[in-house]
Formats: sequence, C-alpha cells, structure tokens
Amino acid sequence: RVDNLIRNPEFSQVLTNYEFDTPFHIDSPMKEDTRLELRMMLYGADQYLMIARDVSKLNRLETMRRDFVANVSHELKTPLTVMRGYVEMIQQTGDDFDEHWMNVFGTIEGQVTRMDRLVEQLLILSKVENNSTYDDTHLVNLSELVEGLIKDSHWLNQEKGHTITSEIAPNIFIFGLDTELKSACSNLISNAIAYTPDSGNIGVSLQFVKQSNGVGVKFSVKDDGTGIKPEHINRITERFYRIDKSRSRNTGGSGLGLAIVKHVLQHHNAELVINSQWGQGSEFSIVFASSSVEQVNQ
Ligand code: ADP
Repeated sequence: RVDNLIRNPEFSQVLTNYEFDTPFHIDSPMKEDTRLELRMMLYGADQYLMIARDVSKLNRLETMRRDFVANVSHELKTPLTVMRGYVEMIQQTGDDFDEHWMNVFGTIEGQVTRMDRLVEQLLILSKVENNSTYDDTHLVNLSELVEGLIKDSHWLNQEKGHTITSEIAPNIFIFGLDTELKSACSNLISNAIAYTPDSGNIGVSLQFVKQSNGVGVKFSVKDDGTGIKPEHINRITERFYRIDKSRSRNTGGSGLGLAIVKHVLQHHNAELVINSQWGQGSEFSIVFASSSVEQVNQ
C-alpha cells in the first residue's frame, strides 16, 4: 500500500477521501531538503496513476523571489521617506521659488507618493504571501470591520460624489487575521470607487449564505462603473495586471490590490467571485466557506 511507504497522515487522508483535484506536497521520505509534488489522476476505470515530481528547486527559486521583493521594498522605504520630507519642506517654505518650480516640486511629491504606495502594497503582498497558514484561533468581527471601512469610504469618495449604500448583517464572526481581512475588503471598496465614474452607485453587503455543508458568508461590492471585458477577468488577480494602464495610473493603482485579495483568501477558506459586464458595472464578492464562520450567532 502506498500509504505504508509514505507515512504521512495528511497524505493518507487525501487517499481515503479521494481529494485529487489539487497536487499534494510533502517532504521526501528518502532525501533531506527535497520537496515532492504528488499528483493523482484516474487511469482507466478503477485505477489511479500517481506522478511524483521533485519541486525543491522551484520552491527555492520561489522563496528567493519572495525574499528579494520583500527586501527591496523594505530598503526603498527609508530613501522615499527622506525624499518626501525634503520635498514637503521645500513646498512649505519655498517662497523663493516661482510658480514653475513649485509645479515641479508638486510633480515630484506626487510621484514619490505613488512610489510610496507601491512599496507599501508590495510589503503587504509579501507579508501575506509568506503567511500561508490558516489561523483558526482568532475570531474577527467582520460586521464591525466592514462598517468601519464604509465610514472611511465616505471620506475617500468626497471628490467623486458616489452614492454608497450598505446592507451589513450584524455579528458576523470569521476565523482569521483582521489586518488581512481588512486589506482584502478595503481593496474591493477602493477599486469600486476608483473604477466608477462620478455620481455612480456603489452597494456594499455582508450576509450569511446557505451552502451545501452549513452557513457561509458573502461580502460583496457592486458598482455601476466601467465593468470588465470577459477576456480580462481571469487575469486581473495577477500581480501588476492592469486593464487600462494609463487610467489605472491616474487612479493611483498599482495592479497589486487584487493579488493581495487573492492571497489573503487562500488562507481564509474563501474565494473571490467576479461578475462583470463591460460598460455596466461589476460585482466582486468574497465567499467564506462555512468552516471559516463562527456558527453560533445565527
Ligand atoms: P489597481 O491597483 O490597478 O486597481 P487591482 O489589482 O486592484 O489593481 O485591479 C486590477 C485591475 O482590475 C485594475 O487595474 C482594473 O483595470 C480592474 N478592476 C478592478 N476592480 C474593478 C472594478 N470594480 N471595476 C472595473 N475594473 C476593475
């Protein structure tokens, strides 16, 4: 029996439950520092084929990439803060400069702010990526968290004058990390604000939903903004993927927001569902599985 050779309780569970949709990763039982990926597929009517692949090198490269991005972003923070401080000082005390130079300093300040935001987003993403475990010990009051974000969004939204409505069920508690959940939910709200023209409508809702094995939770943000063409939908959660680069730059977008959302959801038993119609608007929803939801309050 294969589970006599590979003595790993999680692997045995995968075999017993036929959970073969995604590959399974284990440390090699034979060789130190070797990571294996096991894939199972149906082979004929009642047999299975198992393919094992050494993914150690791939894993090491992935770790190097993550560390590199985290280190570079961290190192960029200090010089950016210094540059920003000096530019702001010049802007406040710069009576000696004429209008032309004040415009130049304004542009520098704008670009430094953009870079600062990008670095901030990169740091959040690498932190979320490095934390791949599901925290089922902390409960987060998602209802309060979302109410807070809606209050903030009225400030963000002053220039564009959208109508923001909300329907938030009280006392929804989710197992997980509040900083990460806040980041995921606020990204969806700020995208709706960024990609909906002035005076548009945005609806935020948080509700329990029935699922086959219990009660889950759905957080959704609906807008009547630009919408997304079908060919982009599968790609918009990739890092740095932006549909209209120039427009996105104007909105201060980095292309990292939805990548952060996707990574947060990966370790909160949740998935991102996107419904969008080009020219009519979009609905971005986070659907939490019942196992992530505290069930007592219903
Ligand atoms: P960005 O920082 O550019 O907003 P995101 O990762 O958050 O990056 O989003 C990726 C792209 O998906 C955006 O550049 C935008 O083109 C598209 N997008 C995201 N949310 C919406 C939305 N509510 N309506 C229309 N397009 C959206």
